[in-house]
Amino acid sequence: MTHAVLSALGLGNEESGTYLGQGEWSKTRDAGVIEPTDPSTGEVLAKVHASSEADYEKIVERARESFKVWRTTPAPRRGEAIRLCANALRENKDALGSLVSLEMGKIKPEGDGEVQEMIDIADFAVGLSRQLYGLTMHSERPGHRMYEQYHPLGVVGIISAFNFPVAVWSWNAFIAAVCGDICIWKPSPKTPLTAIASMKICNDALREAGFPDIFFLFNDAGTELAQKFVDDKRIGLISFTGSTAVGRKVGERVAARMGRSLLELGGNNAMIVDESADMKLAIPAIVFGAVGTAGQRCTSTRRLFVHEKVHDEIVEKLVSAYKQVEGKIGDPNAAGTLMGPLIDDASVQRYLGAIEKAKAAGGEVRAGGEAMTDRKGHFVKPTIITGVPNSHEVIQTETFAPILYVVPFKDIDEAIEMQNDVPQGLSSAMFTMNMRVAEQFLSAAGSDCGIANVNIGTSGAEIGGAFGGEKETGGGRESGSDAWKVYMRRQTNTINYSDALPLAQGIKFDL
Ligand code: NAD
Repeated sequence: MTHAVLSALGLGNEESGTYLGQGEWSKTRDAGVIEPTDPSTGEVLAKVHASSEADYEKIVERARESFKVWRTTPAPRRGEAIRLCANALRENKDALGSLVSLEMGKIKPEGDGEVQEMIDIADFAVGLSRQLYGLTMHSERPGHRMYEQYHPLGVVGIISAFNFPVAVWSWNAFIAAVCGDICIWKPSPKTPLTAIASMKICNDALREAGFPDIFFLFNDAGTELAQKFVDDKRIGLISFTGSTAVGRKVGERVAARMGRSLLELGGNNAMIVDESADMKLAIPAIVFGAVGTAGQRCTSTRRLFVHEKVHDEIVEKLVSAYKQVEGKIGDPNAAGTLMGPLIDDASVQRYLGAIEKAKAAGGEVRAGGEAMTDRKGHFVKPTIITGVPNSHEVIQTETFAPILYVVPFKDIDEAIEMQNDVPQGLSSAMFTMNMRVAEQFLSAAGSDCGIANVNIGTSGAEIGGAFGGEKETGGGRESGSDAWKVYMRRQTNTINYSDALPLAQGIKFDL
């Protein structure tokens, strides 16, 4: 399986983790080795040679050179480059989707779905390349014209998390590329192979068509190069996706050098189910939201607020649904699997630690609650816990695992208040058939999250909307809508076509 997937994408047992541009992969062999593993077996998939400081310098200098060409390439022509990437990804969807499953551990339909997201955002970017609109304004002075335009920003740095090992890069890179930027990517050390494969697929298509280098890659054995990257004044924007703990440091360091950052950090997403909710919709939405990707989505459902009248009924239905899922935990690439493993043993330990804390706080484990030690790999049982208050530290913290805390509520004001009462603000959902309650949830006094849904779950956002969250989730927005503006610099232009020089606000300055 491993060999077939790797060879379908032109990868071997040993790979360079550095794409230097001009079709060249670094020959550095003394900067450390990264060994990504299959989380469902613990088996090492391949050796990836990490990048050296000299590699990094070469990449940044080449990126800056490329920018001089790319920034004046017409935007629709830049869109054509991304159209070629979309086509190449379509051709490689099955193989790349399998590699995502193999290296990250999400099930095959989710692996394929992630590649489909890359294709979708590429299609979006192609259209966007003809729509990078600025406004025109009426000048207060006669014979003057005012307008704004968006220019390319420069070199954009992308640091990504393990759980969406390829889609997050494409959300940033394809939009940034049509905006006229050059992108340098540092992926998670847990998923370097999917990054190398994506680079090969896209860069081969671009080079064949004669486009300049727009995408570069480096892989860090530790965090030294990543920190240099964050502090590097030559990188106009750092788009960081990862935990709040690391993102906070990244944001502070980029701000200290007056750079621009886009932060997509941890979530602690909740669903509210009131007594009028359609259970046919609510139950599968809760299960998919909490169990999908083994609870390793930034938008996974972690807290469930249910009206006290339907609390027991819902918990019972969930426990029975979780039993069915438990029977379908296993090899993520096998047909019929519903849940794969956690990424590594440290994640399993964090899962077990959170369950112990919840029990110590009086919580009752209603489903799951243990690691699956009868097999290799990092498998755990999806878990439901009742009886822990929303204010407890264990609920306030994002544990990146399939643990769902269920908390009853009496009225909708209380439910909305609890849902907002956490440090994070990424995704939220409400299930109700009551229009007043739905509108209250979506109003200015409702959910404080970047994403608020009615009668669909917290996870599975579409690329067409701007994606991101508030508070400790970082405030960034990427993907659709007008998220492209962060990858460009805005310029206001005033042109005087009269034969006078009237000053603004009617000021007279007699000489
Ligand atoms: P992580 O914070 O451990 O790592 C993220 C990236 O940061 C990796 O590439 C890592 O190598 C890099 N990194 C580590 N230390 C660094 C440093 N000092 N300077 C610069 N870079 C450094 O996160 P993870 O475990 O890979 O991913 C899971 C987390 O990501 C969760 O908290 C999840 O909610 C979050 N996430 C958020 C979104 C979102 O869009 N909001 C999407 C996916 C994941």
